[in-house]
Amino acid sequence: MTQTKVQILQNYIDGEWVGANTTKTEIVYNPATGEELAHVPISTKEDVDAAVQAAAEAFETWKEVAVPRRARILFKYQQLLVEHWDELATLITKENGKNFTEAHGEVLRGIECVEFAAGAPTLMMGKQLPSIATDLESGVYRYPIGVVGGITPFNFPMMVPCWMFPMAIVTGNTFVLKPSERTPLLANRLAQLFEEAGLPKGVLNIVHGAHDVVNGLLDHKDVKAISFVGSQPVAEYVYKRGTQNLKRVQALAGAKNHSIVLKDANLENAATQIMNAAFGSAGERCMAASVVAVEETIADEFIETLLQKTNEIKMGNGLDEGVFLGPVIREQHKERTLQYIEKGVEEGARIVRDGRKDVVNGEGYFVGPTIFDTVTSEMKIWQDEIFAPVLSIARVKNLEEAIELSNQSRFANGACIFTKDGGNVRKFRETIDAGMLGVNIGVPAPMAFFPFSGYKDSFYGDLHANGTDGVEFYTRKKVVTARWV
Ligand code: NAD
Repeated sequence: MTQTKVQILQNYIDGEWVGANTTKTEIVYNPATGEELAHVPISTKEDVDAAVQAAAEAFETWKEVAVPRRARILFKYQQLLVEHWDELATLITKENGKNFTEAHGEVLRGIECVEFAAGAPTLMMGKQLPSIATDLESGVYRYPIGVVGGITPFNFPMMVPCWMFPMAIVTGNTFVLKPSERTPLLANRLAQLFEEAGLPKGVLNIVHGAHDVVNGLLDHKDVKAISFVGSQPVAEYVYKRGTQNLKRVQALAGAKNHSIVLKDANLENAATQIMNAAFGSAGERCMAASVVAVEETIADEFIETLLQKTNEIKMGNGLDEGVFLGPVIREQHKERTLQYIEKGVEEGARIVRDGRKDVVNGEGYFVGPTIFDTVTSEMKIWQDEIFAPVLSIARVKNLEEAIELSNQSRFANGACIFTKDGGNVRKFRETIDAGMLGVNIGVPAPMAFFPFSGYKDSFYGDLHANGTDGVEFYTRKKVVTARWV
């Protein structure tokens, strides 16, 4: 393919766009076409040091800015994000591959984080008790913690960074973001718009790259907290190394989400929801439906309905009209997915729909929607996060068996139930071992105002992202006890 010269992305340090201290770069591809969108610098520890220094200096003045004034910049930022909605969504589709409608939805999720963070004057309020003893009062006051580092994955280039920096910044911290090297373009645009909204220099910084940048943040003494979102092994590593260095760390990790379809469910709805949840965003969602436990008496009917709907999926470039299923992120990820499909066949699962047979012309990294039936918990395709449009179905006798099966997973981000029976919903809610639950929906999507509550190997830390957990994570408290004499 002939290539025109592509730009090398710059880092954003102290309000300036600067070249990284390296000649090492990686190519950012459009996964739908194989086109080179840009080169991303693999920045060094020196780049991290410069960004952290700028953030530490900016913190000294930013923390003193009155909370409503900080919030007002977020109101302006919200307006700019709304104005640039289509542009941002297009960029997401180009660098990530998800279809434009999904990208549009992702921008909304990001905007909601900014809207929630703009409520900082209320969210940062403390509490008082006027009499803890005779003539003695106590109160708690909330303050920022300092420089925060954020490390983000490729699958939500807008939403995930927006879980972090708007709340961290509005609560008075300064921030160094390391976006995914596979989807780094959107982060730069987010920073440009924040600057346009009036954010002072050094409050938000971006250092592009990979492991060295992550380690630079994890080891830097002036970085007080780390927010990480990404795969399980890296989340565990980041949590261990960050806490070893005595930092506050929240590390959101991988997933394998289970849905349960019971015989009294609206099967039409269940099949539509699960089709969307399994194959939307090419299965590259930490809340994707990966396993369905279906009651055996309705399994054939459910699979038939699901298959019909899945066969209607249009695969292609997410910017094209009517396309639902875009590519996976890279050629290597496609290869890995094909290996998992092969593994599923070897393990003895019945392949109901083989996405390897679906083809899209051109150089994109496409895998068609794939469905396995008769999957068991001994199989790798049941156990591992494949992070691609591959769905496993297990047949179960009843709700109890379905819950027991789901609870064997090492992951615990999300779980959904499809039923009309309130008693079933209650039993599911009380006994399922996962943090984000859905009832008759396919994806219990994280919202800005609630915590994203994964657990087991899907999360390391105490305070989750978003909601008041986010406020707690990015602030510390002083308790003042006073006697006025
Ligand atoms: P990833 O773990 O490969 O990368 C995440 C970040 O970590 C990137 O910025 C990357 O540069 C960095 N990184 C990767 N390997 C590293 C290493 N060895 N040392 C230091 N840093 C390293 O994840 P990804 O493939 O970009 O994203 C997909 C994963 O993220 C999936 O597992 C998905 O479930 C997970 N995810 C989880 C949530 C959640 O809320 N739990 C949300 C979105 C994505």
